[in-house]
Amino acid sequence: METLILTNDENGINKAGEIIRNGGLVAFPTETVYGLGANSLSSDAASKIYAAKGRPSDNPLIVHVCCKEDIYKIAADIPKAAETVIDMFMPAPLTVILKKKDIIPDTVTAGLESVAVRFPADETAQKLIRAAGVPVAAPSANLSGKPSPTKSKHVIADMNGRIDAIIDGGDCEVGVESTIIDFTGDVPVILRPGGVTKEDLEKQGIEVHIDKSILNSLSKSEKPKCPGMKYKHYAPDADVTVVEGEKTAVRKKIKELIGNTDKITGVLTMNGADYDNAVILSAGGTNKEYAKNLFSALREFDELGVEIVFAEFCSDDGYGLAVKNRLYKAAGGKVIHV
Ligand code: AMP
Ligand code: MG
Repeated sequence: METLILTNDENGINKAGEIIRNGGLVAFPTETVYGLGANSLSSDAASKIYAAKGRPSDNPLIVHVCCKEDIYKIAADIPKAAETVIDMFMPAPLTVILKKKDIIPDTVTAGLESVAVRFPADETAQKLIRAAGVPVAAPSANLSGKPSPTKSKHVIADMNGRIDAIIDGGDCEVGVESTIIDFTGDVPVILRPGGVTKEDLEKQGIEVHIDKSILNSLSKSEKPKCPGMKYKHYAPDADVTVVEGEKTAVRKKIKELIGNTDKITGVLTMNGADYDNAVILSAGGTNKEYAKNLFSALREFDELGVEIVFAEFCSDDGYGLAVKNRLYKAAGGKVIHV
């Protein structure tokens, strides 16, 4: 199929809304990463998302709304803690897991009784959802397993010819996917770290636990909270190893590792460093910048033909947990602590 590239002005957004309303697929920018949207009230439309991405059918989608009131149309029995978080934080790079209403088809939730709901802050995303006139189911707009797209060129590379349209809205601000909080148990649990951090929540007096799978590869006996968590994620073609610890020690270790390989090597570095015999990409100086640059850098290493990537990781603060979670998954658990 021919994929339309639309501008993020009124004409482009209205056209995109019409495509979604009529059961088609549109990739659109959000503040986190680009999403691949379809009408969440239609099982047929939602099933096209799984086909276009090559996504396993047991990995549920996030439903995007354009106002807080619409959350109550698709979710039931919303607990007080979730209401507080919705009121205090949304719109934000934040997804809440709630009990679903029947209006949301099983295709969207992969058969779960719960639904993931997000009210994005990005203006284009909000306008598109409003133009569509329905809540929009949207996972990240990458081929399944690849790093999430943070620039329109990433979406074009993965999705051109597979979907109806792409809204070109420039680069995504946050760069990693939304924080997911599960409100279906006794205590709220962060299932995926993102732009809204545990510290942000605690500052507002909201107590949350962190799911232990965030930094571990799940052992075979452990059942993930959500089926999608078991899949390989964010992986470039290059082989990634995270080298974690105090900056000087990290850099010494990476130099040693570069010296031990004949492969084309890349280093993802915080604040630049002088590595010889390696392709160097900068992740920026802070974890916030790291989050914004991470997926784009992983894709760029592939474009440059890099075979092995060593990623520096130095501190856990701010967006640190979100960055570390994506890095660990991209590395398939290959982490060296120095
Ligand atoms: P993506 O938007 O591509 O980042 O994928 C959406 C992710 O949201 C899935 O991989 C799940 O981990 C999570 N998710 C969606 N729906 C649910 C749900 N009902 N319960 C728990 N996690 C969910
Ligand atoms: Mg995804």
